[in-house]
Amino acid sequence: MTPRIVVLAGGVGGSKFVLGAREALRRRGIAASTDHLTVVVNTGDDLWLSGVRLQPDVDSITYALAGVNDTARGWGRQDDSERVNAELQAWGVGWPWFTLGDLDLGTHLARTGWLREGATPTGVLERMATRWDLGARLLPMTDAEVDTVVTVDDPDRGPRSMHFQEWWTRHRATLPPLAFDNPGIEAAAPAPGVAEAIAEADAVLIAPSNPVVSIGPILAVPGIRSALRQTSAPVVGVSPIIGGRVVRGMADVCLGAIGVETSAVGVAGLYGSRRDEGVLDAWLVAEEDVDAIETVEAIGLTAHARPLWMTDPTRSADIVEAALAQARV
Ligand code: GDP
Ligand code: CA
Repeated sequence: MTPRIVVLAGGVGGSKFVLGAREALRRRGIAASTDHLTVVVNTGDDLWLSGVRLQPDVDSITYALAGVNDTARGWGRQDDSERVNAELQAWGVGWPWFTLGDLDLGTHLARTGWLREGATPTGVLERMATRWDLGARLLPMTDAEVDTVVTVDDPDRGPRSMHFQEWWTRHRATLPPLAFDNPGIEAAAPAPGVAEAIAEADAVLIAPSNPVVSIGPILAVPGIRSALRQTSAPVVGVSPIIGGRVVRGMADVCLGAIGVETSAVGVAGLYGSRRDEGVLDAWLVAEEDVDAIETVEAIGLTAHARPLWMTDPTRSADIVEAALAQARV
């Protein structure tokens, strides 16, 4: 069987998982995986900076699939330089704590140019995808601008709001968050093709991405949650928590802010079971969290434990295969 797989994903965790999905399809002899693998990418991290439109999660996944990402640093392009960034800083433009590589800026300029000419984010991404053999179809979650805003409890200045990227990069998530919002998302629609891909899928996989600021905005786009609840495809989630801890990043701070425990059980409960009001049928937990299985099954999900460290595409492909096995495809 050549399954059609849809993955919901954020940036770095998402891209490792998507590389695994492409590899899992290749193991099944599916070379033209663009027809079989659709990735719905979080655009809550997007922002306007220095006059250009940045799409951090979209770019992380695009660069990873193209094989041009900087794996050591974890973001941006391999062998990049920062000459333009230094010049922008000299002009006092942009954020001093937020570095934009020269090659990366080339992407942002191209994207911004196309947007200014009237292309939609979906159209821009389609155009960008023609440059490399990505082996996946990438769709933004929505064409609307719904950038994530964090309300923090600033010890010096009291409650105030800032763009998610400022909180994450400048403050390293140290200012206590009170809430995460995507202004305007109530009026947003899924990007063209998103609801259709979910409806026509044989399996929908929720990548081990940040549940609050990567998967949260995707599920908050009106129409995506209902598409997940209605599809005949099994929906399988992969835990971003291993041994009760986030693997990297600061997702635990985000989970704490919305009152969810940093555990495989906590995140499963946040997504919920399709038998109730949620979106999941099955939940893959780390072998370190095998004790969670009983509780996860009690909320109406089938659960299995597997090694969930995505150290390379081979391991990630094993994880995707385990998720597909749970979906029986
Ligand atoms: P971001 O948008 O770049 O922050 O990346 P994502 O939201 O896609 O992924 C971040 C999440 O990935 C973190 O919460 C981590 O817990 C999770 N993560 C990162 N590496 C791994 C891994 O090797 N295995 C698992 N299971 N989760 C991981
Ligand atoms: Ca992100």
